[in-house]
Amino acid sequence: MLSRAEIIQWLQCDDATTLFLEADRLRRERVGDTVYFRGIIEFSNYCSSRCAYCGISALNRGIKRYRMSVKEVTDLALELDRMGVNTVVLQSGEDPRFSTREMLQVICGIRSQSAMAITLSMGELPAADYRLLREAGADRYLMRFETSDPDLFARLHDGHTLERRLEQIESIRQAGFQLGTGFLIGLPDQNLSMLADDILLTSELQPPMIGVGPFVAHPDTPLRNGNGAALDLSLRVVALLRLLNPRAHIPGTTALDTLAPDARERALLGGANIVMPNFTPSGYREHYLLYPGKPFASAVAVESLDTMKKRIHALGRPVGSGRGDPLSITPAV
Ligand code: SAH
Repeated sequence: MLSRAEIIQWLQCDDATTLFLEADRLRRERVGDTVYFRGIIEFSNYCSSRCAYCGISALNRGIKRYRMSVKEVTDLALELDRMGVNTVVLQSGEDPRFSTREMLQVICGIRSQSAMAITLSMGELPAADYRLLREAGADRYLMRFETSDPDLFARLHDGHTLERRLEQIESIRQAGFQLGTGFLIGLPDQNLSMLADDILLTSELQPPMIGVGPFVAHPDTPLRNGNGAALDLSLRVVALLRLLNPRAHIPGTTALDTLAPDARERALLGGANIVMPNFTPSGYREHYLLYPGKPFASAVAVESLDTMKKRIHALGRPVGSGRGDPLSITPAV
């Protein structure tokens, strides 16, 4: 078990080569070489929340809003399944008009035809709604706590508390979802000891899935002047999370791709085992700008699934078929 001081040491030392090697070794030993795809569909960019870092927050009045229909989302998810991408991640802002009721229709539509894994990432809901969504057949839910520092959390989230966010995360787990959580790296006012606490809090929660990514400053948000995170720091965080969570599924997230063309490969060589290609249809995708510089080039419309597979095979890693459930968990369907 790494101590807080050791984590800080790894975050700031000159050369983290041995950290990356150890994370890679442990990843191979505990979750194997297989890389799984999680196909993202960003189904609505309407949002009632006011997160200071986020480009689609309600604060940003300058963007074109869109909402896909229940049928569009259902059909696209089933198409991914047929293409061999057997997990769909349905992500949105906090959109009251595409909320639990509409999502239940999507889940039932998918479940009537497929056993693919359904992951939701649609923000905070009443606890009873998590249960309904889970009972309808959704498998996984992603919700980051974003930062473990209570003051920073409240400043970034319009006065909402970290405590409440952690209660939400607990409700998600209680509802029986496979939980994915994590935080933002390089937020303004976040120092290395706070980052070490983020790593430790994630590990305490023992989530079967972990998602972290660099904060990227968006020009139309209150944090427009932030510096964002460096690639090397982000990769160190991924590697440290692997050391503390040997069996978790950890992606090289999309935001990492904004930092360098080979960021995804480097994450996969330093502890990560998941890739999340974006399948949001063009016409919508360019309006889902949580942060600028989102890598349209990594989307399947531009870079085909085959090319993505080749890049992974070039690392000597097979691409998984099937749902790729967390190792300690048996699928519910
Ligand atoms: N509304 C849902 C899902 C969409 S936001 C939710 O809040 O959970 C998904 C993730 O995008 C957030 O958890 C946040 O960590 C990340 N994100 C938002 N703005 C970002 C930015 N400027 N840079 C990097 N990541 C960002």
